[in-house]
Amino acid sequence: MKVGRRTINLSNTAKVLFPDDGLTKGDLVEYYETVGPHMTPYLRGRPLSLERYPDGIDAQQIFHQNAPQYFPDWIETAPMDRVDGSGQVSHAIARDTATLVYLANQACITPHSWLSRADRPDNPDQLIFDLDPPDGFEAARRGALDLRALLDDLGLPTVVKTTGGKGLHVHVPLDRTADFDTVRAFARDVAGVLVARDPKHYTIEQRKAARKGRLYLDIMRNAYGQTAVPPYAVRARPGAPVATPLDWSELDDPKFRTDHHTLRTVPHRLDHDGDPWPRLRGRSLTKPRKRLEQAA
Ligand code: ATP
Ligand code: MN
Ligand code: MN
Repeated sequence: MKVGRRTINLSNTAKVLFPDDGLTKGDLVEYYETVGPHMTPYLRGRPLSLERYPDGIDAQQIFHQNAPQYFPDWIETAPMDRVDGSGQVSHAIARDTATLVYLANQACITPHSWLSRADRPDNPDQLIFDLDPPDGFEAARRGALDLRALLDDLGLPTVVKTTGGKGLHVHVPLDRTADFDTVRAFARDVAGVLVARDPKHYTIEQRKAARKGRLYLDIMRNAYGQTAVPPYAVRARPGAPVATPLDWSELDDPKFRTDHHTLRTVPHRLDHDGDPWPRLRGRSLTKPRKRLEQAA
């Protein structure tokens, strides 16, 4: 098929990737072709790790950081230092819809993206709070709203998305002046304020047993070489749920669920309402840090 200037030879499009839903690799390709124009702005410059399922989501997962040698030249790649300093890995970057379609044809259900861009890899352009609920939908909904209110008090704008899994991600746009350690320390202190205010509902305990039914505020995504699921990526779970940007008002709905949006529904939602996220300027954490110290 032709996508923009690129010709992609699709293979095995009838292969079923989601057996419960009867969704095929062809459906995945068509999905990424449709959402590509909305998704690629969020992926520009970001190294990817690839989560692939050549025989469907119930079979073997292939997870890799590198872009294989056989990828065509037109797929952008960037050599990135490994986290442990042992050399480099050539990561794929999705600069256009054609790349997303190519990856879908590789049975890449979820491309995971870095929080920084390849030109300044140590300085993230977003901070992510990964809200991991114990169960149900209420804990993440409430946690996201409390977090939003606190960050708003600190002078920081936020956007929120479903993960396609159980929880939510709250993003803060950054101006890339701070490195990961600074950003993560800030995130940890923000999470600490929420825990101090409401220890019955929130925790920063990494160990699952110690969370005891509380919402885990996971700030560990905010590190060099770590990834998060990007907006509009499909997850390898029954129903083919999609990580979906929300308008904050959508969390006011008492029937709110984090797994509501899927490969089948998101194209229509985008067609109808467009992408709900505003384009936000990246912020510095210097002033919010001072305000946080006053709030704590
Ligand atoms: P959920 O809402 O169900 O928690 P999630 O995408 O937030 O979904 P997490 O397990 O909280 O899932 O992980 C957060 C992010 O960290 C993921 O989106 C993914 O990009 C990355 N990640 C987590 N675990 C792994 C892993 N084992 N290998 C690679 N990346 C991972
Ligand atoms: Mn999570
Ligand atoms: Mn997590």
